[in-house]
Amino acid sequence: MIQIRCPWCGLRGAGEFRYAGDVRARPDPASATPQQWRDYLYFPANPCGPVMETWYHRMGCRRYFTAERDTVTNEVWTLEEGIR
Ligand SMILES: [Zn+2]
Repeated sequence: MIQIRCPWCGLRGAGEFRYAGDVRARPDPASATPQQWRDYLYFPANPCGPVMETWYHRMGCRRYFTAERDTVTNEVWTLEEGIR
């Protein structure tokens, strides 16, 4: 079972959480082109290896937090566990 450590609730099963997106810079609304918005909204980088993501603890404290996940092994680290 994959487990994720919520910064407020502790170690819980991954089923309690919802993936809320990659952590990446949003285009500037005042100057972004339609191509930049399309790339931002529909074409995530999807790399192989460690990525920074936002997670939502939907069945617990209902808070968002940032975690690092290795897309190859599905290991997850939060700030409290020392993001690499
Ligand atoms: Zn929580």
